[in-house]
Amino acid sequence: MKRDRLFGSIEAGGTKFTCAVGEDPFRMVAQKTFPTTTPSETLGRVIEFFHSVEEEFGKIEAFGICSFGPVDLRHGSPTYGCITSTPKKGWEQTPIVQNLEAEFRVPIGFDTDVNGAALGERRWGAGQGKDTILYITVGTGIGGGALVNGQPIHGLVHPEMGHVRIPHDHAKDPFPGSCPYHGDCLEGLASGAALNARWGKPASALESGHPAWDLVAEYLGFGIVNYILTLSPEVVILGGGVMKASHLFNRIRRKVTTLLNQYVKSPMVEEKIETYIVPPALGDWAGIAGGFELALRACTEGSNLHR
Ligand code: ZN
Repeated sequence: MKRDRLFGSIEAGGTKFTCAVGEDPFRMVAQKTFPTTTPSETLGRVIEFFHSVEEEFGKIEAFGICSFGPVDLRHGSPTYGCITSTPKKGWEQTPIVQNLEAEFRVPIGFDTDVNGAALGERRWGAGQGKDTILYITVGTGIGGGALVNGQPIHGLVHPEMGHVRIPHDHAKDPFPGSCPYHGDCLEGLASGAALNARWGKPASALESGHPAWDLVAEYLGFGIVNYILTLSPEVVILGGGVMKASHLFNRIRRKVTTLLNQYVKSPMVEEKIETYIVPPALGDWAGIAGGFELALRACTEGSNLHR
């Protein structure tokens, strides 16, 4: 009987690390989640987990890591594969790829959590058959990943779409914003952390009729319209904890339609916006799926560290 290929996928988050092994996200042989504590403790557990899976199922061919950040994605940079200037205490300059590569000596793909989710959704989810994809996560923070011609955008560092400036009517919403860098950037106004600071409770505790939601939809609408006009994505996927409030989707779709004001001539926007701005088809597994896709790509392209 043909043995399945084995890949390792890691979704590295500020609160938890999710690890999985299998041929793809639908054929996993093992998965485990660890709380994000110190880098040495967390990465130690991750490495131990993959070793134990290898003992049972055989050698893992390649790994893919989708990480919180900011991260260094520049090939040839001495800090490639590191989490860099993160506000997450203790994790600055953590060489996450190097740690894994020293241990397993196989190709490792590495990208941001949101680029990873976009890759996962393109291969197995809501982005199938599309090459220009936008994935936005609205959780504690706001981040955006984008694929153009099927490839994640990196650039100078990597996009930080959550920190764009948007119109903010101080008379309607006097909240100064919660971003430590910019105050009332998009993340400072519409993230889970902003909602908590603004209304004194988490998004999950705000009832659907709460005035918070119209404001959030307005802010996210502004951001998304800017991304649509800049990138012209074929699909806009919105994930993350705040987007679990499913009523937010129609509010955002209405806002985007109003703001675009029939300027973008595409049936996707004008007639089928409910299939254009969508939740991730893979739900909370988009990032892990992205790890599998990165591992597959690393197999073809070779280890990122040595390119
Ligand atoms: Zn900001």
